[in-house]
Amino acid sequence: MAKSNSIFFCNSCGNEFAKWAGQCPACHEWNTLVETAPYLKTTKTKTGQKVTLKPAESFSVKAALSSQTGYTFSTGISEFDRVLGPGLTKGGVYLLAGQPGIGKSTLLTQLALNSKINIVYVCSEENPAQVASRIKRLSSKENSHIRLLNTSTVENILETIKSDPNCLVIIDSIQSVSTAVNPTTPGSPSQIRDSASYLIQSAKENSVPMIIVGHVTKDGDIAGPKMLEHMVDTVLELSGDRQHLLRLLRSVKNRFGPTDETGIFRMNSNGLEEVKDPGSILLEGRVKNAPGSCLTMIMEGTRPLTVEIQALVVASPLPIPRRIAKGISGNRLQLICAILTKHLNLPIATKDVFVNVTGGMDVKDPGADLGIALAIVSSVKDKPLPENSICFGELGLLGEIRKVGFTDKMLKEAKALGYSEIFSPLSHTSIRSIKLG
Ligand SMILES: [Zn+2]
Repeated sequence: MAKSNSIFFCNSCGNEFAKWAGQCPACHEWNTLVETAPYLKTTKTKTGQKVTLKPAESFSVKAALSSQTGYTFSTGISEFDRVLGPGLTKGGVYLLAGQPGIGKSTLLTQLALNSKINIVYVCSEENPAQVASRIKRLSSKENSHIRLLNTSTVENILETIKSDPNCLVIIDSIQSVSTAVNPTTPGSPSQIRDSASYLIQSAKENSVPMIIVGHVTKDGDIAGPKMLEHMVDTVLELSGDRQHLLRLLRSVKNRFGPTDETGIFRMNSNGLEEVKDPGSILLEGRVKNAPGSCLTMIMEGTRPLTVEIQALVVASPLPIPRRIAKGISGNRLQLICAILTKHLNLPIATKDVFVNVTGGMDVKDPGADLGIALAIVSSVKDKPLPENSICFGELGLLGEIRKVGFTDKMLKEAKALGYSEIFSPLSHTSIRSIKLG
């Protein structure tokens, strides 16, 4: 019989309950409640001995400023630094999220290799030999500044940090570590919450920068409690298409810097290579002068990027024709089709419309609207867009072409890249005013 002061955690949603139940009252999963001891009273240790409480450490403003906390340093990877803003901050905790196999461990191994300070790499998911062989593949040097920690126990990691606080700690991954305080299995929401809370506390107390790897679920959420994102200082997301080589590093939350920058990498046999000119990779193998293809400039963070949008419009065998979008939202495609039907009398009501952004890019910038529209028009008319042309601009419901953020910057970039014809809100006011052959 459970003691009245026991509490129960749901292994699935992380909620706490005072009573056990077969089905979780919150998420309705069966057999997920696990009994756990209540939080330890701070005046007693685990064994029941009394401890004397000390007042918290306090600083004057001057002393706090001169302390090492808040000191930042470069990661040695300029695309990584671009996303972080000032670089890594001592005492800062960074969550690197991404799908399994996208290249998180590779990126962090490269960061470890480039690091000027000592690295403690916690191999909780892979064993040290696996990590070491990856290090060997990426670098022929001895790399004695990297220590591989063979543990998945939070308490062991905390002891290591305490004994050598002049290091950068990499936890690969938070889903595979556990603390003895929590009886649930590694990866359960309450386990992730408790483990992360001890690790973060330790990073702050010892002024140690810490990068935590977190896997994402099929829906794109970080596995574990949503709270994890609130607990850390910065949430970084590594995304990309497994079939494609491009990887984008974005910050979703950043206590130390901007959240609109994107780092762009390319996966090759030597790991993730920094990409200075992403446009050229996205346009690799492009068929020129093909109907249905349109070059569009979009903004990735504060950097203009050229992508190719392809459209294919064919007669539909279905009573309700399909609108299929890849790389853009399906709703936006519906909207643009409606605008084209209304304002250009484009005969697409009985046709299937397929739109794809090449290179596996996921385009959220509304400035791609015009490119999507022109690609569809080009496919319907079976005529290529003018050679050496590019476009950008948001489409309004009245058919007007609207300005988007950084319009001037994109125009400058398009001119610098040598495009002779630029369709944009600066040259055309509405979709009707664009005459294509
Ligand atoms: Zn639950």
